[in-house]
Amino acid sequence: MVNIAHEIYRNGLTPGLSGNISLKIPDINEKKKKSPHEHRTVILISPSGVSLKDINLKNIIVTDTNGNQLDGEGEPSSELYMHLGIYKTREDVQGIVHTHSPYATGFSFTDKKIPLLEGFGKIKEPYINIIDYAPPGSDELVELATQGVKKDDILILKDHGLLAVASNIENAANLAFFAENCAKTGFVSLILNKII
Ligand code: 13P
Ligand code: ZN
Repeated sequence: MVNIAHEIYRNGLTPGLSGNISLKIPDINEKKKKSPHEHRTVILISPSGVSLKDINLKNIIVTDTNGNQLDGEGEPSSELYMHLGIYKTREDVQGIVHTHSPYATGFSFTDKKIPLLEGFGKIKEPYINIIDYAPPGSDELVELATQGVKKDDILILKDHGLLAVASNIENAANLAFFAENCAKTGFVSLILNKII
């Protein structure tokens, strides 16, 4: 998770303090188990207000699936409940990446959709879908994003950024890289088509 956070930042997907990432794993801390048959799940999420370049083993926040903090220095991401809502809705999802990557976010402030320009994963439609605007960290965003991922693994959040979900954090990051690339290539082709 630390390496992926750094890679996402290095590639410019989460400028400044933007973006957050999480993953869902079985709790391996045997001492916390009430019985040997109990299967606890924990969420590891990036802390709020910390650049993804500064994520380390101490400041990753551990919560239970209801958002109760179990470990980690600082506060969980302000989008914690969006991540938790998605894990509850999509059993198969075990990694989530939210970015403010410049090209995808640029598209989010327009009416233009990002074309899916190269083959990668399971592509159902030729454009990345967008969900209505809701303020960052709001209950409305939790609701819209949770509904949105029922159908799509990549979503544009109107006037905000991008969301990618997958079976693990690495694949979610790969989808976020792919989506940003589509936005960049889509932007270049739009400009070239206008001037040539
Ligand atoms: P956090 O630092 O609280 O995760 O917020 C970043 C962000 O992108 C909110 O949408
Ligand atoms: Zn955001």
